[in-house]
Amino acid sequence: MYSESFEYFRPRTLAEAAKLLKKHKGSRLLAGGHSLLPAMKFRLATAKALVDLGAIAGLSGIKAKGKTLEIGATTTHAEIAASPLVRKSCPILSEAASQIGDIQVRNRGTIGGSIAHADPAADLPTVLVALGATVVAKGPKGVRKIRAENFFVGAPDLDDTITRLKAYAAAGADCLYAPSSSTLTDPSPSHVGQRPFATLNEKRPAS
Ligand SMILES: Cc1cc2nc3c(=O)[nH]c(=O)nc-3n(C[C@H](O)[C@H](O)[C@H](O)COP(=O)(O)OP(=O)(O)OC[C@H]3O[C@@H](n4cnc5c(N)ncnc54)[C@H](O)[C@@H]3O)c2cc1C
Repeated sequence: MYSESFEYFRPRTLAEAAKLLKKHKGSRLLAGGHSLLPAMKFRLATAKALVDLGAIAGLSGIKAKGKTLEIGATTTHAEIAASPLVRKSCPILSEAASQIGDIQVRNRGTIGGSIAHADPAADLPTVLVALGATVVAKGPKGVRKIRAENFFVGAPDLDDTITRLKAYAAAGADCLYAPSSSTLTDPSPSHVGQRPFATLNEKRPAS
């Protein structure tokens, strides 16, 4: 099946993206496209226009700021999995990112897209809640900082663009991550819809 036709825009700045979202009613942001495009092809989601975040400088990347790890929204799962900084300071996050889908999905899919899509069976939302992470988003109401545990409650605010994630960084923290039983290795119906499980052996302050 093919999606309905749509316009495509590739802005260079967040301000330009915000203008496009406002101007084109029924438009949606596009990151890696690995959740949105399949949904559009199945006609489970529609968009009159797609506003691609891929060319916006500064939305991608991983850095440590004091005791906080900051990850840009368009950082891919593969970049998170491969990052020595994430592996050292939030190993549960790199472990989860390395288990997402397959290499194509990890090379295109982004942390911001995964959070905005908010699939209860997705890997990163569970881990971000366990880490006490903060979602930073920019929209018509300005910059908002939302605790991950509150972000995944209720309907997402489609006017906001997630710009980055913040998580408290602690070297070598022990953790346990169990993805939802993989439908790749066991596609039986009893595994569909199971949620991943994440736990840390320490209490972390809010990021
Ligand atoms: C074959 C396959 C296997 C997969 N396996 C797994 C898996 O094992 N585990 C897992 O967790 N996920 C899995 N996924 C989903 C994958 O991780 C997606 O990459 C992710 O869910 C969405 O990220 P994206 O960048 O592709 O977002 P997109 O598909 O581009 O966007 C998803 C939604 O988020 C919105 N959005 C995107 N970026 C932003 C932003 N910065 N701010 C606000 N809204 C935004 C879009 O408008 C859209 O509504 C799989 C996908 C496929 C196709």
